[in-house]
Amino acid sequence: MLITEMKAKETLASLTDGKKVFIINCEGCKEVHFPGKEAKEFQKELISTGRVTGTITTDYICNPDNMKLRLSKHMSEIEAADAVLVFSCGVGVQTISAYLEDKPVYAACDTYPLPGFQGVTPLEYQCDQCGECWLNLTGGICPITACSKSLVNGQCGGSKDGMCEVDSSMECGWERIQRRLAQIGRLDLLKCPTNVRNFATDEEVSK
Ligand code: SF4
Ligand code: SF4
Repeated sequence: MLITEMKAKETLASLTDGKKVFIINCEGCKEVHFPGKEAKEFQKELISTGRVTGTITTDYICNPDNMKLRLSKHMSEIEAADAVLVFSCGVGVQTISAYLEDKPVYAACDTYPLPGFQGVTPLEYQCDQCGECWLNLTGGICPITACSKSLVNGQCGGSKDGMCEVDSSMECGWERIQRRLAQIGRLDLLKCPTNVRNFATDEEVSK
């Protein structure tokens, strides 16, 4: 099980500053925790700026077939947006990001673990519920699960022919991240030297 908490309003405001945005809310795990009230307030403010091209509230965007079906009616609104802002756990954001590969897709929430039964939904992407979601800096590819060492500050340098030095059957996660950032024109994110990760956040929330 997991908990989604909305990122700080200031963080979301800076991600969406001056951009046209399409908003996706995933309420598939709402019975556990979804920051509905805060999300609604933030979205209301954003909509009042006239920069929101469309919104959708649905469930289980982590299921690619379901997600494609739900989004299919909104593709023109998504195309009109500069970015897509997703209120969901890390799996949902990764699923959308892989589908809308030419569009910046931002995580509006952090994902925290909650003890208990996880459920059996077949997932294409993994989220380790690490507490401070890093997807906005890594082009929507999770460095915790896509990199064997869960590195958050770049490649270890050991990859061979694009494959991971720890597990030669998997592509190096950081090479995927670099490719994706190049695709969405955000290689500049790799230059930011001040992104010190807060590994304590998940413990704080589960107290
Ligand atoms: S960085 Fe990865 S593990 Fe952490 S919350 Fe985001 S998707 Fe989940
Ligand atoms: S080779 Fe790539 S995926 Fe493997 S540990 Fe190093 S950075 Fe991570």
